[in-house]
Amino acid sequence: MTSVENRARLVLGNWKMHGSLAENAALLDALRAADPASHCEIGVCVPFPYLAQAASALGGSSVSWGAQDVSAHAKGAYTGEVSGAMLSEFGCRWTLAGHSERRSLHGETDQAVADKARAALDAGLTPVVCVGESLAEREGGNTLGVIERQLEPILALGADALARMVLAYEPVWAIGTGRTATPEQAQEVHGAIRVALRGLGAGQVRVLYGGSVKAANAATLFAMPDIDGALVGGASLVADEFLRIAAA
Ligand code: PEP
Repeated sequence: MTSVENRARLVLGNWKMHGSLAENAALLDALRAADPASHCEIGVCVPFPYLAQAASALGGSSVSWGAQDVSAHAKGAYTGEVSGAMLSEFGCRWTLAGHSERRSLHGETDQAVADKARAALDAGLTPVVCVGESLAEREGGNTLGVIERQLEPILALGADALARMVLAYEPVWAIGTGRTATPEQAQEVHGAIRVALRGLGAGQVRVLYGGSVKAANAATLFAMPDIDGALVGGASLVADEFLRIAAA
């Protein structure tokens, strides 16, 4: 089964609400200079105001860029929102959808996340749909149930849509905490997601792991059969660390 699944490695940075024109310039220049065209695709998801800067710094290199959120709507009276078409105009390849900080701080529901993924696809972007359980949910033995619930409206979009997406498993208790899931804990969830994807004929969809990934722990995570790369927060702000994760 795996032999027909061509899942190229992907390491994506999520800058969150960090950066300034000057800081970004140094980071983007370092990524561009490394231009690590290799076995692993690399991209960065930057704050909206810095998309033009990322496009200008990374255009023509092997490093792609994208946004951290997208509106579920194509256009209209949605003050403060940014549409997929707008992101496309800035050369975005990616947009995150349903990062846990959006779910918890902005009340995004599972269906709202699926609507955003659909809107991203309609604009020609690759949505990177994030799922993950809280510590209480894990300790209550509900990890797989939560992932299943979060994925339900995503899987309902169907195999053709899934084939144009990336999924990211990010346990909430591991994001920004320095506490990473063990490779075995991550693989258990990635394996379950893979089974669900294969059931729909979408086993080739890449599933990234996210949650305190660093150069020091990346290789053991990437050795797991169903982990296809990483979504990296804090460590993506340091060029050398980020590139070493991709090299792993
Ligand atoms: C994230 O923001 O998606 C993330 C995984 O953050 P960190 O790597 O800092 O845990």
